[in-house]
Formats: sequence, structure tokens, C-alpha cells
Amino acid sequence: RTAISLFTRDLRVHDSPVLRQAAEADRVVPLFVFDEQVLSSRFNRPNRMAFLLDCLRDLDRSLRDLGGKLVIRRGDPVAEVAELVDSQHATEVHIARDVSTRALTREQELHHALTERDCSLHVHDAVITAQPPGRVVPVGNDHFAVFTPFFRRWAEFPLRPVLAPPRAIRLPSGIRTSRLPARSKLCAGDVSPRLPSGGERSARDRVRQWFDAGIGEYSEGHDDLAGDATSRLSPYLHFGCISPVELIEQCGPSEAERDFVRQLAWREFHHQVLAARPACSHRDYRPRQDRWRHDPQALQAWRDGRTGIPIVDAGMRQLAWEGWMHNRARLITASFLTKTLHLDWRLGAQHFLDLLVDGDIANNNMNWQWVAGTGTDTRPNRVLNPMRQAARYDPNGDYVRKYVPELSGLPVRALHEPHRISADELADRGYPAPIVDVDEANARFRQSRGKL
Ligand code: FAD
Repeated sequence: RTAISLFTRDLRVHDSPVLRQAAEADRVVPLFVFDEQVLSSRFNRPNRMAFLLDCLRDLDRSLRDLGGKLVIRRGDPVAEVAELVDSQHATEVHIARDVSTRALTREQELHHALTERDCSLHVHDAVITAQPPGRVVPVGNDHFAVFTPFFRRWAEFPLRPVLAPPRAIRLPSGIRTSRLPARSKLCAGDVSPRLPSGGERSARDRVRQWFDAGIGEYSEGHDDLAGDATSRLSPYLHFGCISPVELIEQCGPSEAERDFVRQLAWREFHHQVLAARPACSHRDYRPRQDRWRHDPQALQAWRDGRTGIPIVDAGMRQLAWEGWMHNRARLITASFLTKTLHLDWRLGAQHFLDLLVDGDIANNNMNWQWVAGTGTDTRPNRVLNPMRQAARYDPNGDYVRKYVPELSGLPVRALHEPHRISADELADRGYPAPIVDVDEANARFRQSRGKL
């Protein structure tokens, strides 16, 4: 018996139902395919590609420790799998269930190609999310549209057992494995200077540190912008270097651990919404007929972190610098774009996806819709005031000072409220005057929503 384990967003050997099941066969082909369609799409960006290559290098090392190797191909995943099924006489293919449109199409096409070949397709649940989308549903609907009832129900479902890595990986003899291509052959452009390193080993180190030292401060600290008190596990979760089931299993009953599980459940929530409404990756979940403004200059200032609103600029510069942004800053910058500047959420979501190393269609686009008021927020018209947010979540100004060094000598009040500083002084510091009067613009937004 020969099986193929097709890795996608599950780049690990621990707690991997896909690899464990495939490894029950006499021989297994651990396969990763660089999907030409994804490579030529806008989703292929340097930060995620650099992180992905780290993950694949690390996965190959783990598979070698188990006696195997990662088999690398480039092209159409369905055609590559079919070729291997034919040449290796494989009788089963294992893959994780996923929710994006591309993943659903791939699954259907695989099903078709394998049926023709008398080869079975095993699509494993509880790999990418702890509970498969579609399992936790309310009466009479195919998904939950509100987080709190979802979370209550989701928490009642038992988790599957955590799995150890397979004992051994036996490759078919003579199979061509191929080397990992250089990044320049896959994706052009520079990576952010402070990108974390990818891979299951880095993920497990971080998880260990997080449970040993970090998580204790989570409940009080997770919204503190300068405190850096969140797990920073999102890129590892996105690429499946760590299993959500294993993470949740490790959490005990303390308040901090329960709060952390609740955050992980947001990830599950957005995945089940997107699974039920795949078109909402780009279409409004709740259409509001907003007439978004067209303002390329304001959009560019936002992207560049030069809006003249320091807390917004700090967030945008953290994104460019690290390929990651604190959740509170994501909320502030997204609210600023969609509600203060009144620009279409899709423009913001695309810029985030260009840079985020954890960039993920379910989490990113559904969170953008949540903030823009076209998604699942039960208070879609709330507008954040960035100055008030700054005073509350960056009370000493350390976050702004770190990412907007032009302003670093200023006292905290001026730092958060640059309209208190003369235009000349701002110009001397090389920092722009605010591109918008926030209070006026927010009032305009409330009025426009009131009319709808
Ligand atoms: P922690 O606070 O340590 O949380 C643990 C984990 O819970 C995270 O790693 C993440 O997997 C999950 N989580 C936490 N908050 C959320 C949330 N609101 N929605 C979904 N999952 C959550 N997260 C992404 O993983 N990818 C994205 O592309 C993404 N885009 C976002 C865009 C916007 C506009 C907003 C407001 C949020 C977005 N988030 C996204 C959610 C959240 O900001 C990040 O998951 C979080 O900041 C990651 O940091 P952390 O791992 O330290 O989080």
C-alpha cells in the first residue's frame, strides 16, 4: 500500500491526522506542491513566502529524522498528485479540510481525478481548525453569525485526542524528491526586516515560552499595545506549524488560559463563516450600500504610515517592519480606513494581505468586514476614535515612540494628539500634519450610516 500525504496549511509532524493516517500505509509520499495558480496570484507575497520556505525546510528535517523526506513539486497540485498516484501506484491520498475557494476547488478536482484512478481521497477534519466548519451550527442555519453564542456552543464540543508524530516514514524507493527552490524563483520583492522565523520547531519553542512565562499576563495585557503580551502564534497557526487542538488541550482553567482559548475561538468563528459563505472573501457579508469614497492619496498615506495620526501610523509601520501588527492596532487602523476615511474595506484587506505573515483569507477578510460594519459585528456602526484608543491602549506612548521615532521626544499628550503641535514643528520633525479631522470625519460617517 502506498499513500500520499499532501501538505497544505498543516506543516507539522506533531498532532497531524493527515500524516499519521498516511503513514499507516507501507510507503508514504509526504508531498508539498507549489501551486502555480497561487504563485501567480496576488496572495503570493514575500513575507509569507519566506516564512513558508522556513516551514518547509523544517518539515523536511523532521521527516528526515523519521526516515523520510519532503517531496517537492511545482505546478497544478491535482495534476502533480495524479502523476504520483500513477507512477507510485498509490491507492490513497490524505489532505486537510480547508475553507478558501481555492481549497474547495482543489478538493473537488482531486476527488474527480482520484475517482478515475480508483484511488481514495481522505479529507481530514480538525487539522486547520479544532472543530471542522459546519459541525458547530445553530438550529436552522449552516453557521453562526454572532460570536458569543458560537463560542458557547463551540466550547461544548469535545476535542479529538492529540496525536504523536508517526513512528516512521517509509518513502517509495527511487522517488524523486527535489530541492526547495530559492525564494527569488518563487516570489519577487523584499521581506520585512523583522520577520519571525517559520517552522514547527520555532512554533513549539514559542508555545513552550508562552505557556511557561507569557500567558500569565494575557488577561490584563493583551490589549496593551507596547506590552507585547500576546502569543504571536498567528503565523504558526496560519501555516499549521502548531495544531489548534494541541494548543487548546494545553490550556488549563485559569482566567488567562480561558481568555486565550476564547481568542482561538475567534479564529474558528471566522473560518466557519467563510466556509458557509465563501464569496464573502470579497463580497459584503451584510451589504450596507456604503458609497465608499475614492481617495488614492489618503489610501497611500495610510499604507505608508503617514496619515499624521501617530497611533495609526505606528500600526502601519509595525506591519511594514515586522509583517505583523498587534490586534488592537489592526482594529484602530482598519476602523480609520473604513470609517474615518470611508474607504472600501477590500483596499485595506488587500494591503494587509500583501504584508501580513499570518495573512489569512478567513481571519483577515472577515475581521476587516467586522470592523467595516459589513460583517458579523452586532454593532456595525461603532467608530473608533484613534486618539482615545491611543490614550487607553498606549498610555505612556511607548508604542508610538517605537514605530514613529520622529515624534519620540514629545510628551505623551502631544504624541497622541498631533493637532496640538504646530505645523512648523511637525514639518521640522519630518512628520505630516493630520490628513483628516478625525472628529468631523467620524461624525460624517455616523450620519451617513444613520441615513441608510
Ligand atoms: P493572540 O492574542 O495571542 O491570540 C491567539 C490566537 O488567536 C491568534 O494567533 C489567532 O490565531 C487567534 N485570534 C486572536 N484574535 C483573533 C481575531 N480577532 N480573529 C481571528 N483569530 C484571532 N489574524 C490572523 O491570523 N490573520 C489575519 O490575516 C488577520 N487579519 C486581521 C485583520 C484585522 C483588520 C483585524 C482586526 C484582525 C486580524 N486578525 C488576523 C486577528 C488578530 O489581529 C490576530 O490573529 C492577532 O493579532 C495575532 O496575534 P497573536 O498571535 O499574538 O494573538
